[in-house]
Amino acid sequence: MNWGKTVLLAVIIILLTSFSLYSLFTPDNGNKFKGSQPVKPVEPWIIETIPNGGSIFSVLEKQGIPLKDIALLSFRFGDYIDVSTIQPGDTLKIMLTPDKQHIEKMMFVQEPTLRHHFIVKGDSLAYTLEELPITKQKRIIKGSLQGTLDATLLAMGLSPRDKQNINNGLEGEINFQRDARNGDQFEVFVEERIFEGKTLPGKTIYYVQYSGERTGTHELFRFEDKEKDSVLNGLYNREGKSNTTSGVGFPLSVCHVVSQFGKRIDPFFGRWAFHQGVDYRARYGTPVYAVANGAVTSAAYNGGYGNQVQIKHPSGLNTLYAHLSSISVRGGQTVKKGQVIGRVGSTGRSTGAHLHFGLLQGKSYINPTNLKMVGAEKLTDAQMAEFKSQQERIRINMMNLSKPQQVVSNR
Ligand SMILES: [Zn+2]
Repeated sequence: MNWGKTVLLAVIIILLTSFSLYSLFTPDNGNKFKGSQPVKPVEPWIIETIPNGGSIFSVLEKQGIPLKDIALLSFRFGDYIDVSTIQPGDTLKIMLTPDKQHIEKMMFVQEPTLRHHFIVKGDSLAYTLEELPITKQKRIIKGSLQGTLDATLLAMGLSPRDKQNINNGLEGEINFQRDARNGDQFEVFVEERIFEGKTLPGKTIYYVQYSGERTGTHELFRFEDKEKDSVLNGLYNREGKSNTTSGVGFPLSVCHVVSQFGKRIDPFFGRWAFHQGVDYRARYGTPVYAVANGAVTSAAYNGGYGNQVQIKHPSGLNTLYAHLSSISVRGGQTVKKGQVIGRVGSTGRSTGAHLHFGLLQGKSYINPTNLKMVGAEKLTDAQMAEFKSQQERIRINMMNLSKPQQVVSNR
């Protein structure tokens, strides 16, 4: 009898042990007691990659998500993310409610360290930003010209945008066609962002030097305004001159795009419509600037645009500034580039304070982002004082980086 009890106990122990071991080594899917029917793992997120030139929200329509839900996201999305920073390849993740009728959550993953989280709460969105840790590294890149500057910079690992910034900065200083020669030396001082061992595209360029026998030596320094994301931030020569001479400025001192030119969901009618301009986020009362010299052709309340100003420029283009809270110019008056023409408001067909900026060629609206806008052609005296000390700091930083870490030699 005693022996039988022992066997029974042993069997129980063995069963229990193997069962716990089985549990330990079986992935816990919360479903192991429900019998033999295998349950397919369900991907809770709908994942969409932003297509080249595609609207972020048009991709959702083909998922069968109601337009009303897409509209809510699209109206509020630009409040948090400057939509002009969205790149093809960024990812949009959507989680639907259990009945699959509405959007519950959305995550937008940008470049890949910024995760924007949205939770739908009735008619509004709760937003949080998750920034994955990156390391920043300052680096001097030295090289010599081989063929075109474009090709040389790209071969050195600079992104197309970095390359464009450097190129724009140097173009006004140097006649490349006439004076540049293979073997001309250049130096770029950058700050890079590194994530999981990889360098992210988009560097901050602090300094550019170009020197050649026929070109002489030219230097550009980065100026940073007090205002974060100021349109003034960028490369200038030692005297504070920007070399991009497009003659067109920005209508605001900080430009955060909430809605681009083109097809979008109309915020009033909730259906797809064509947006004939760019919307910039700005606080009520923010000064609005004429982007170029010109003559005011209209300065009045005008239906859906509310208080609006239109300026005809010598180039033949017309610019439109809409939904203003106040207008500070009169029809017929000439205005200078950078002059305050009114203040941001929400008059006319508008859901909140913003600037609608339109560009007209003849009678048709064209995309204002085609304009090459420049923060400033020349820094003011006050800005110059700050710029001089920033130049000093840049030089000191470069000296501290005792030796260049990457040298591209003639090949
Ligand atoms: Zn608009």
